[in-house]
Amino acid sequence: MNTKYSILVPAYNEQEVLKIFYDTATKQFDTLKEDYEIIFVNDGSKDNTYSILKELAEQDKRIKVINFSRNFGQQAAELAALQYATGEAIIIMDCDLQDPPEVALQMIEKWKEGYDVVHGKRKKRQSETAFKKLTAHVYYRFLRRITGMDIPTDTGEFKLYDRKVVEAILKLPEHNRYLRALATWVGFKQTSISFDRPNRSAGVTKWTLKKMIKLAEDGIIANSAYPLALALKCGIFLSFASLLTFIVFIILAIVGTSLSLVAWLFPTVGLLAGIILVMQGFSNLYIGRVYDEVKGRPNYIVSETINIE
Ligand code: UDP
Ligand code: MG
Repeated sequence: MNTKYSILVPAYNEQEVLKIFYDTATKQFDTLKEDYEIIFVNDGSKDNTYSILKELAEQDKRIKVINFSRNFGQQAAELAALQYATGEAIIIMDCDLQDPPEVALQMIEKWKEGYDVVHGKRKKRQSETAFKKLTAHVYYRFLRRITGMDIPTDTGEFKLYDRKVVEAILKLPEHNRYLRALATWVGFKQTSISFDRPNRSAGVTKWTLKKMIKLAEDGIIANSAYPLALALKCGIFLSFASLLTFIVFIILAIVGTSLSLVAWLFPTVGLLAGIILVMQGFSNLYIGRVYDEVKGRPNYIVSETINIE
């Protein structure tokens, strides 16, 4: 049976917030007076997240749970939930209430007006460090530039998708799906809703610097060939620089300043090695991706599901 709305919630070590999320979210979504499901993905939590989710699913059949065999990351969790979602409109949100359920209701209003993708745009971000705000600010503007896509700035995973958008995303053959960019890439009718991002209701952020760097890399390499072009640009620049050095050296030789052979070797070897290394380095990133795709491993492994046929 198809439901009207699917709320998708990745959860990694979220024992402190799950019940608060459940109470707050159901209270809000109940006001719709339409049927909905909440699909939680337990992304390999080491705390009591899974047992709390089992409890919730026992009391409330609208709660569905996908349990990962280990921590595969928020992106994989969201992808899994998208594959299981049956709703006509699908909303991805965090379970720490930083993505307020009231805003999700506003997204549904927009969907009813005919929009297919509604991005949650963060106006103010309480609690986040200056480092995170600055890097996010710079990164998303850079990503927009190099991908040439109109990815709305200051948006995260909090979005509403119409079913047809989700189906389009799931049909993509690639393994490395970077949802934030794909949501824009697939097209359809898009809009944004601005909201103040509150503090986490409890617990601490699950995004380590390492995970953020990996996500940033995914965003670039999966969506843009800019680094390849950059290698070419660097190559051209370095070639010109070395050529210029040679011209200067030749002029110096003509006017009678003798340079040792070692001096000549410096610009030659140094710049050639530089060019080769830069080219090789970027190519390697892509070779790594090809390797990932060729392996064809799944994005996640589900060990069990609850309330899902
Ligand atoms: N999350 C996840 N797997 C991870 C890291 C995070 O499923 O490896 C979930 C987490 O439980 C939360 C959401 O992704 O529901 C966003 O994480 P968090 O709130 O820690 O990130 P922040 O809001 O600080 O960027
Ligand atoms: Mg959060």
